[in-house]
Amino acid sequence: MDSEDIDQIACDCLVIGGGPAGSVSSSIVAEAGYDVVMIERATHPRPHVGESLMPATNEVIQRLQVKDRIADLNFLRKVGVQFVNAAGKASKPFFFRKHDDSDESETWHVDRAKLDHCLFDNAAEKGVRTMEAVRFLQMDTLDTGKHSVTVSINGQKRVINPRVVIDASGQQSVLANHFKIKQLEERRKNISIWTYYESANNSFSDEAITIIAKTAEANGWFWLIPVGNKTLSVGLVGEVDRIHSSGSNNEERFNHFVDQNEFVRNYLDSLELTRSDDFIAAKDFSYKASQPAGDGWVLAGDALGFIDPVYSTGVLLALKTGELAGDAVVECLEANDFSQSKLGAWYPQYQEKVSLLRQLVDLFYDRDFSFGEFIAANPDYSYQLADLLMGRVFGRDDTDFFERVSGWKNSQLS
Ligand SMILES: Cc1cc2nc3c(=O)[nH]c(=O)nc-3n(C[C@H](O)[C@H](O)[C@H](O)COP(=O)(O)OP(=O)(O)OC[C@H]3O[C@@H](n4cnc5c(N)ncnc54)[C@H](O)[C@@H]3O)c2cc1C
Repeated sequence: MDSEDIDQIACDCLVIGGGPAGSVSSSIVAEAGYDVVMIERATHPRPHVGESLMPATNEVIQRLQVKDRIADLNFLRKVGVQFVNAAGKASKPFFFRKHDDSDESETWHVDRAKLDHCLFDNAAEKGVRTMEAVRFLQMDTLDTGKHSVTVSINGQKRVINPRVVIDASGQQSVLANHFKIKQLEERRKNISIWTYYESANNSFSDEAITIIAKTAEANGWFWLIPVGNKTLSVGLVGEVDRIHSSGSNNEERFNHFVDQNEFVRNYLDSLELTRSDDFIAAKDFSYKASQPAGDGWVLAGDALGFIDPVYSTGVLLALKTGELAGDAVVECLEANDFSQSKLGAWYPQYQEKVSLLRQLVDLFYDRDFSFGEFIAANPDYSYQLADLLMGRVFGRDDTDFFERVSGWKNSQLS
């Protein structure tokens, strides 16, 4: 689309951000026959952290009918996860198929630049008017109760007049910041430093597993994710203060914690790796917006909230909230009712399910809890744990997993 076309453009729905949440929500609204504009400040393919998916992403991927296209990108199949405790003891890999022997229990380790580009193109094919290198600048509420959005194209300001706005701008959270409703979780102030390696001699198997190795020194963890036949993504997550005080730059800090962690050090040494990228750092604070929607706007993906990435929940929640926000917008367009209550009606139930994933994260950081010991003592709960690790929290009956954990923890103390 040419920039000249959008001097005072009108549309049914404007989506800010062309990541997974934006591409899903815009596709759903366009499929319902509405005129959708999606703006993305970068140009695809653009790099992005977050390579390990959860099997529950398959549900939304199927609804979008993009499974075959993603399969054609030849990502490594993700078939399980493996946890390594702070003492360096690796648990047995947790293979998803052991709990559900269907294709739905598998997913991928992805190159996000390629995955996000694929979803963005898919939105365009569904009729979304996609615009790259276009940046959201501000939103103004008009006397009519509608919003006008000012964007920048090649340094020039243009105005878009949508009936409804979806903010899918990721951690930029442009609307949550605009309305000052972004709430940081105080208790876990983490930072992440990551890089990529190429292996000279070893090809990673197509049956890839995500390895999560705890590091007590950082009060955090490492991820080890093969993202190509010879490419390994390695990231460190831990408390800001502990990581900052460990070195004067990101390379020193990263290497300091690798050296301290016997499992990670041995794993990297065994592969004869060469680093193929810089060390990239990002804040890794959990947060959520205090409300999911307002009159005429709704949030999706990281723009709505972010959970510590230890279980690779980010893309799943971006796809899911993209779907829920997209469906809500379609209903609102049909009813010509853009009230906050209608645009955010899906949120309470969603929140309930996501709180299960948040509790799972809390258990990971709980020094007094071991999943291995819990399952050894409560083997009948392994299926519920499997569902949680696959991200299968939506559309399911409530789990009593956490009640059981709590009871077990109390019994250990007494
Ligand atoms: C260290 C770390 C590791 C992670 N690991 C994983 C993982 O292994 N698996 C996983 O599933 N998730 C992981 N995540 C989370 C995951 O990356 C995100 O949850 C996911 O990308 C969210 O998708 P989104 O569409 O909401 O946002 P994004 O993918 O960030 O997309 C938002 C888009 O909005 C655009 N944008 C921003 N501002 C503007 C603007 N002003 N105007 C126009 N466009 C704008 C951006 O350019 C971007 O393309 C990780 C996150 C971190 C920080």
